[in-house]
Amino acid sequence: MPELPEVETVRMQLKSKVVGKTITSVEVFHAKSVNNDETIEDRLVGKVIAEIDRIGKLMIFSFVNEDNLFLLAHLKMTGQFFYLDEGGEAVGGGHSVTATDRDLPGRHTRATIHFTDHSALHFNDMRIFGYLKLTDKAGRDAAKARFGPEPINPKFDTEWFYQKLKKRKTPIKAALLDQTFIAGLGNIYVDETLWRAKVRPTRLADKVTKKEAAAIAAASRDVMNESINVGGTTFQHFKDTGGKNGNFKDYLKVFGQQGKKCERCGGTIEKIRCAGRGTHYCPSCQK
Ligand SMILES: [Zn+2]
Repeated sequence: MPELPEVETVRMQLKSKVVGKTITSVEVFHAKSVNNDETIEDRLVGKVIAEIDRIGKLMIFSFVNEDNLFLLAHLKMTGQFFYLDEGGEAVGGGHSVTATDRDLPGRHTRATIHFTDHSALHFNDMRIFGYLKLTDKAGRDAAKARFGPEPINPKFDTEWFYQKLKKRKTPIKAALLDQTFIAGLGNIYVDETLWRAKVRPTRLADKVTKKEAAAIAAASRDVMNESINVGGTTFQHFKDTGGKNGNFKDYLKVFGQQGKKCERCGGTIEKIRCAGRGTHYCPSCQK
């Protein structure tokens, strides 16, 4: 499943390709992938892509001179975006890219947006949990309201974060995975964040100290930014839209490292279940 750094990598690279392009047609191959919206083509033809924003893992396309029309895009488990230029060269990203994904449109292509310069943006989604959804400003705002603030944002308020943690009686890991509380951290990045902050994933959120809360916020920001800088993780051959493999997995300290030695203290990394997820930590140096 693409996590935030992968989505952010795809967003930044798509942005460099499609902003300013005019839509000529929209082909829908699977109605559910566009929220069963039969008007999507009529409403998008002639529109010029102004920007691609993101909150959590939700991408939000906006259009030039349209303040009441937005396209929400979520990759969920298996979504991919591929941009195919007028020369036929494909660049793509999202879930598990294989060679056949680049035959576009392909078996798993659910919708294609065509542009006036004969380039196209293909949305692939094998499992069909992802979506492209056209909405208005109220719909966009409602979607954004479902996400808490992002620690990756330089304005993230660590005092607010600490005060909110004090009211939560779940394991800290569960709190960090709750996107309505803080947005953007998935399973891999929560484990990495907590290792860096030296906090055990099973610790109850309301027992986290102010200093630890600040360490968690800083660690999550660092781990996400470092991952974005190298194009995300690539457990299932994730490729960003420049066609490179993300290689953050080379930098993982605990995720998937069970049985190995902790590089900080020499303890042995363990894998347990916490918050319903496979969870990796060092019992020696994470308290
Ligand atoms: Zn350790």
